[in-house]
Amino acid sequence: MESENSIKYSVVIPVFNEAESLQTLHTRLTRVMKALNEPYEVIFVDDGSKDSSFQVLKALHGKDKNVKVIRFTRNCGQVPAVMAGFRAAAGEVMINLDADLQNPPEEIPKLIDKLDEGCEVVFGVFQQRKHNCFRRAGSRFAKWVLSRVVSADTTNISCFRAIRSYVVDRLSLINDRSRFLSGLLCWMGYKVGTVEVKHDARYAGKTKYGTFKLVTRWMDMVVSFTDLPLKLAIYGGVVLGVFAFALALYYMIRHFLHGYGVPGFATIVILVTFFAGVQLFSLGILGEYIGRMNKEVRNRPEYIIRDELD
Ligand code: UDP
Ligand code: MG
Repeated sequence: MESENSIKYSVVIPVFNEAESLQTLHTRLTRVMKALNEPYEVIFVDDGSKDSSFQVLKALHGKDKNVKVIRFTRNCGQVPAVMAGFRAAAGEVMINLDADLQNPPEEIPKLIDKLDEGCEVVFGVFQQRKHNCFRRAGSRFAKWVLSRVVSADTTNISCFRAIRSYVVDRLSLINDRSRFLSGLLCWMGYKVGTVEVKHDARYAGKTKYGTFKLVTRWMDMVVSFTDLPLKLAIYGGVVLGVFAFALALYYMIRHFLHGYGVPGFATIVILVTFFAGVQLFSLGILGEYIGRMNKEVRNRPEYIIRDELD
């Protein structure tokens, strides 16, 4: 039997240098959660912030008993932060949103309604993302690859989501290092639903994903779900092999018909450069997979907790 005040909703929020947004986030979130009229908790996971985020969170914890705080020793990444929050959460439903108010708390009831229609995982879907076009293109591509694998339309899904707690329990048993959460959640086979939500501009500060971190994130998405890039390298190799053979044939025939032509310096330079590029590319793809295997083999903890305010 569930007790009277067992927690219904656990809101998990990863925080990395978001001091300016936290107060407003807390105010808006509290308004929404109170209106739902069920016991809830908000778990902020400070992912090694360098600004005053932790001090702000500590103050929030001091005046609101629903607020819990976990603090990492260092920046471990958004996904580990979310996982730590999930593991500490006691609710029947986990809600996950960003700290920068790009996922408006006012949209939470929509996710919950969808969950109540019988879904086990619900993703917020953005029609109009407040990101630049490079980002939108890359993220669409990665999610398109994913949609091939999980055979569901994942192109527009976001990290704004509501999940039943038993799904999260299973999720934390999965031992992927480069965890791509949305992908895994689709892959696990539970009933997935989507609902359209607003995507606001960042409330304060800058995105925590620079170009390098973004590309790594997309690589994670693709590489953790498919061997397609490896196969592409093989197919590419075969195609180029055939091409090189045809080229050799062409030069031989030309030699017999017309004798020696122009010394062919350009051809050689172009081909050598081209094939060197192809080889490096294929090696790079191999490297991506091996690098990830290496991470799994080292088996370092995903995150290290310094403080827990509960
Ligand atoms: N975040 C984090 N650790 C990181 C990077 C980001 O906890 O290493 C948090 C960040 O504070 C925010 C969320 O993850 O709450 C999403 O980050 P951001 O808004 O920078 O990403 P974007 O909206 O640009 O995808
Ligand atoms: Mg954001």
